[in-house]
Amino acid sequence: MPPATSSLALHGGPKAVTATHPSHHRWGAAELARLTAMVDQPSLFYWKGPQTDALLGEFRRTYPLPWCMPCSSGTAALHIAVSALQLPPGSEVITSPVTDMGSVIGILYQQLVPVFADIHPHTYNLDPVDVRRRITPKTRAIMVVHLAGNPSDMDALLAIAREYNLYVIEDCAQSWGAAYRGKAVGLFGHLACFSFNEFKHVSCGDGGIVGTNDQRFGPTLTKWGDKHYDRVAGGRNPETLSPNYRMSEPQAAVAVAQLTKLPAILAAHIRLGTRLLGHLRRLALPGVVLPEIDPRDTHSYWFCLLRLEPARFRCPRDEFVAALHAEGVNAAAGYIPKPVYGYPLFQNHNFFAGAWPLRDAGLTTMDYRTVKCPVAESMLADGVSLPISPALTDEIIDQTADALAKVARYFAL
Ligand SMILES: *Cc1c(COP(=O)(O)O)cnc(C)c1O
Repeated sequence: MPPATSSLALHGGPKAVTATHPSHHRWGAAELARLTAMVDQPSLFYWKGPQTDALLGEFRRTYPLPWCMPCSSGTAALHIAVSALQLPPGSEVITSPVTDMGSVIGILYQQLVPVFADIHPHTYNLDPVDVRRRITPKTRAIMVVHLAGNPSDMDALLAIAREYNLYVIEDCAQSWGAAYRGKAVGLFGHLACFSFNEFKHVSCGDGGIVGTNDQRFGPTLTKWGDKHYDRVAGGRNPETLSPNYRMSEPQAAVAVAQLTKLPAILAAHIRLGTRLLGHLRRLALPGVVLPEIDPRDTHSYWFCLLRLEPARFRCPRDEFVAALHAEGVNAAAGYIPKPVYGYPLFQNHNFFAGAWPLRDAGLTTMDYRTVKCPVAESMLADGVSLPISPALTDEIIDQTADALAKVARYFAL
């Protein structure tokens, strides 16, 4: 029975979060200095550009990958990575249905078939057991998405890849600075992809980078994002099709300045995320299920995603989130509204002007209307995401935990 009176901010009570957000600006002197130096350059072209070179140098401090291509977005990085594998049309790439569209766009453009495997209920990353189930004679690669900054189960996924001779692409867009068993994610697969979009740990507005230490893909990596022109030998005589996904010097100038700040930015994300989960563990609120993080790993807390057990609360998830909002917490419902395969383009197989030439040509029998990943579906229906960012303070984090406790206790059955 609901209490007769409620002190929820949603019902007019006082807010749990009273701390003021300090002023925080992501761009400043470091970015300006780079941009100022850049305008004196004779060229803003990426190839051998000093900003691009500096970006590669800074990136390689954490990700010592000999071959890298800075590019226009994380989506572009992933498309370049998929292209570099040179898989025959109709080949299958297993990935997570809980991800950004950017993960699957390149797969589809390369005339490959995204195959969605279910996720672990509490790490929200690919469940190796289900990945194994989705393997067919056409499977050629796994695209591993490290969601929210939590490293995927790389030992299990790499074992499957070895067993079936599959390539591994790591989508690290949300996991700058995350580490699996002490080693940075991005250093496990054949190719690693990162994003510099507005919302990621580090940003230049839009940008991305793809890297590899595999000699099969490294020497030609840049071609896959540069019209397949050969910048090393020179000349324009492309032997295959590639888009122009080049990053320009202005983007690189901002991106390198951001990367020099990455250690401090990560330290803030990790400190605040760890603090919030520490509070929530101590509170042990019935019905609030916290993410599983292996103590040997480093979660880089792009955000904090937890789940509600629907049967333990007398309100729907969205009302719970609205109540958190009213308390002053910038919470959001789940992550994406539904698994990627539920989007209209997949449900209607509307990839190329209402058609899917790959299927029309008999190279796949995939029907996304029949795909089911029940764990992903339930997680997205009962998940709540809490923001973590260097713009927050310890006090805001402490009050965020208070707000969660207040709302959970009010709606508890
Ligand atoms: C952001 C993101 C991308 C795409 O990056 P863009 O730079 O926006 O193209 C891809 N995958 C994941 C998991 C992401 O979070």
